[in-house]
Amino acid sequence: MAAKIGRVPVAEQDPKVRATNFDEVCLGYTAEEAMMEASRCLNCKNPRCRQGCPVSIDIPAFIAQVKEGNFAKAAEIIGEASSLPAVCGRVCPQETQCEGVCVLGIKGEPVAIGKLERFVADWARENGIEPVMPKEKNGKKVAVIGAGPAGLTCAGDLAKMGYDVTIFEALHEPGGVLVYGIPEFRLPKETVVAHEVENVKKLGVKLETDVIIGKSVTIDQLMSEEGFEAVFIGSGAGLPKFMGIPGEQASGVFSANEFLTRNNLMKAFRDDYDTPIHRGKKVAVIGGGNVAMDAARTALRLGADTYIIYRRSEKELPARAEEVHHAKEEGVEFHLLTNPTEILVDDNGWVKGIRCIKMELGEPDASGRRRPVEIPGSEYEIELDTVIMALGTSPNPLISSTTEGLETNKWKCIVAEEANGATTKEGVFAGGDAVTGAATVILAMGAGKAAAAGIHEYLSNK
Ligand code: FAD
Ligand code: SF4
Repeated sequence: MAAKIGRVPVAEQDPKVRATNFDEVCLGYTAEEAMMEASRCLNCKNPRCRQGCPVSIDIPAFIAQVKEGNFAKAAEIIGEASSLPAVCGRVCPQETQCEGVCVLGIKGEPVAIGKLERFVADWARENGIEPVMPKEKNGKKVAVIGAGPAGLTCAGDLAKMGYDVTIFEALHEPGGVLVYGIPEFRLPKETVVAHEVENVKKLGVKLETDVIIGKSVTIDQLMSEEGFEAVFIGSGAGLPKFMGIPGEQASGVFSANEFLTRNNLMKAFRDDYDTPIHRGKKVAVIGGGNVAMDAARTALRLGADTYIIYRRSEKELPARAEEVHHAKEEGVEFHLLTNPTEILVDDNGWVKGIRCIKMELGEPDASGRRRPVEIPGSEYEIELDTVIMALGTSPNPLISSTTEGLETNKWKCIVAEEANGATTKEGVFAGGDAVTGAATVILAMGAGKAAAAGIHEYLSNK
């Protein structure tokens, strides 16, 4: 009977107001709303939602606790599988994972699993619930490279097993894409990300920032000179791609990575920071993924008229449906089935516009999606002062080029076994975007978890 209640809506900032600020868009459930939403769950005997979760959170068990108002117990259940629940509750593509397979979704709306996870994690933070440091230490040292979701998860799981873990992070702040890529209005940095990183440190994990592995020290040195018996590489995929079209070298063309890093990590959007950022008046973002939506919504908040230019149709947009919906509500204009052919440059070398061609969808390509094909004679121009390229990223080759015996594939991704993260070099494991190329937070976390188990097995049998 409970399942007959419709999905409880979640409060959001008004689109007109939020388009001018960087505060969080979604305001989350109240305790009453969370309990009401939890009461929709059927507590299935064969919970498809759990199979849809890459880190196997016991979803029906935590939801049952929320239904009864036992939020601390719900937090404990989630904490057994995930060290970043407030992050995942906000940014995971639940619609294609747990919620995508929820039984209630067959005929109606699935349980709002992500929003419930977020509620529980926020409640735990606000009520001072902390992870417990493991008592037993086994004295074995493991190095983790990169403090993104993959590295933090691997480090947290190993610390729970008693390992002496040190994370080496190239940037001055831990979090990876969670701090430099995803904007504040989707994922608050101080309240949410910093707190979940602190929770990993509370498990006993040491963190050294401003250390670039491959430059400051190599993996071989960590293992032969500093006593690390195993290494996990979770260095992500931070190298931006460009289109290779004329005019791309002009002033006013940015990678989404640079634009978002200046805004998020270097806090250029805040009046109390001096970090320079280019505030365009008319900005085109090329691409249709989460990164493109984040760049467009950031440019909009900095005062620009903003366009998304994407060569396929709305159906193929790789971004989360929620992000596309929010971008439209805020006023981002979509030029779909459109491909840029040239960036137009003025006499001073600055962007003055973009030439595009309309596309139609042809036969499916290798990815299974219908290939976009140019429509002859359909070229048109848009006047602009800024272009942001959000076309995907690949792993930085620094680590692979300085580590003998570490194999990479043709995309410069590290070759590693999916089941346990083992690479072609003994004692070295890898996972997350460094292995798969740009993917998702939860897949990176799943890979970090698998590698932690792989490292434990390797060191137990050594
Ligand atoms: P990263 O998060 O990239 O972390 C890698 C870390 O390693 C970084 O901190 C980096 O500084 C460090 N590092 C790199 N090289 C070295 C070195 N040589 N020495 C030491 N440290 C090093 N996913 C979602 O699920 N939902 C979303 O909504 C979403 N939105 C996104 C929006 C943007 C703008 C971007 C860029 C990505 C988004 N993603 C999203 C993808 C997701 O963030 C990534 O898949 C995920 O962060 C990958 O985790 P990771 O730990 O493998 O790598
Ligand atoms: Fe509840 Fe849906 Fe999971 Fe069934 S599949 S246990 S209804 S969340």
